Amino acid sequence: EPPPAPEVTPDLQLRSPVVAFLGHVDHGKTTLLDAIRHTRVAAGEAGGITQHIGAYTIHHGGKSITFIDTPGHEAFTAMRARGASITDIVVLVVAADDGAMPQTIEAIDHARAANVPIIVAINKIDAPGANPLRVKTQLQERGLAPEEFGGETIFCEVSALKGKGIDHLLEMILLQAEVLELRALFDGPAVGRVIEAQMETGRGPTASILVQKGTLRPGDVVLCGPYWGRVRALINDLGKTVREAGPSTPVKVTGLSGLPSPGEELLVESDERRVRQIAEERLALLKRPRQEVGPKVTLENLFAAIAEGQRKTLHLVLKADTQGSIEALVGQLEKIPSKKVELSVIHSAAGPVTESDILLAKASEGIVIGFNVKTDSSAAAAAKREGVQIKLFSVIYELVDQVRDAMAGLLEPELRETVLGTALVKKVFELNKFSVAGVLVQSGRMVRKAQARVLRGKQPIYDGSIQTLKRFQDEAPEVRAGLECGMRLGNFDDYEPNDIIQCYQLERVPQSL
Ligand code: GDP
Repeated sequence: EPPPAPEVTPDLQLRSPVVAFLGHVDHGKTTLLDAIRHTRVAAGEAGGITQHIGAYTIHHGGKSITFIDTPGHEAFTAMRARGASITDIVVLVVAADDGAMPQTIEAIDHARAANVPIIVAINKIDAPGANPLRVKTQLQERGLAPEEFGGETIFCEVSALKGKGIDHLLEMILLQAEVLELRALFDGPAVGRVIEAQMETGRGPTASILVQKGTLRPGDVVLCGPYWGRVRALINDLGKTVREAGPSTPVKVTGLSGLPSPGEELLVESDERRVRQIAEERLALLKRPRQEVGPKVTLENLFAAIAEGQRKTLHLVLKADTQGSIEALVGQLEKIPSKKVELSVIHSAAGPVTESDILLAKASEGIVIGFNVKTDSSAAAAAKREGVQIKLFSVIYELVDQVRDAMAGLLEPELRETVLGTALVKKVFELNKFSVAGVLVQSGRMVRKAQARVLRGKQPIYDGSIQTLKRFQDEAPEVRAGLECGMRLGNFDDYEPNDIIQCYQLERVPQSL
């Protein structure tokens, strides 16, 4: 065995966590973002007016955390649907007086689908009627159990309005980040993602970039979606011009040839001509009239990918008229047994198919299944744009049958072996440089061209097919038990008396689910 290849450890350094706030509307995400931003003013960091650049970084106890400024799972999943996973930690904001609400649950599913760890911030603990314990119980039912209930999820009680518990929340974020051990290459050309972009008077197109690796500097030639440019200035979240921006740093970039879309990648490239050419090609492609194409992510395509072994899990977003329907559907789908395919319902809820469902399906490369529900118009448009299939049903069994059929089509037939007969080698003849085994068929039959193996002391020493089967001087199609014959397997020449030749057949038996 060759020695294991030496592990290449590039110069990876610890980087700061990037955090997004998710949760039900009005539970205080924006207020919490403001309260955290305010800690900088208190720390004397923010000299002037803070700039809104889509994200900001705070320092706490010698460490940093970057917060994404647009809260909500719609923005979070829209980025993922563009292929940008920029969030390391999700803070789920739940109002203590309101408790877990539909969008709280949705947010949990979105964070889970992205495989991002969740910290719960129970907000509004100052509010009359605040009941943190109830929130913990509700979330425990959703698999987010606090440590005091024997779980592993970090819960923080805060009041964004009164600025209470903020330090503790920041410490918990840093603790979670330590566990994640987030690392990036700091040297070398920068790679980042667009958080937002806008036209600014006097500045032209500007894009807020979250640098993910490398270091971005003024003068760098960048490619950003269908645009390019030479970075003119870098402006940080405090409105200051900076000389460089490393991993986990948000920074506003000027000097681009156009406005890129959020989620788009930014790359530094030294070859200016190449960068300009790629950007122009991409732009030309964008401007071409769109051809009508069907959805790329369809149940059929997914099953084909599973059949080819490219993937194992079928991700579904399930929407239905009532919670009862969902439970019935999930119950039925779970009953479809399969060794090969794993069905994963990444999100299910009562209500129409929405744009956020489409983006979630897109981000996880899944499809949306609706039962007795409609698709709202923005969802229909999003499905078309993102190439995601929506399958609507009104009969539960049709839905289950379609999934079952697709899954059954996946299973390759199993190869089953049937022994046709055995023969005992009695003598070995040498015939024009070949060996021929003189055998006595002991059971069943030997069949010319059939599969056969040579067993010596029960161990198979050769496996092939019967090339020669001779009764006296004639080729025989088969020889039955009790008769003697001469036989030769493939190009095997090493027969010995007392070897056993086992003739067998392989059958393709369709597998049942
Ligand atoms: P978002 O929709 O999740 O971004 O929620 P907002 O931050 O806009 O807050 C919604 C409402 O809740 C606003 O009226 C806030 O003033 C209020 N709010 C936010 N945090 C707190 C808090 O800690 N305590 C109380 N009592 N109210 C809060």
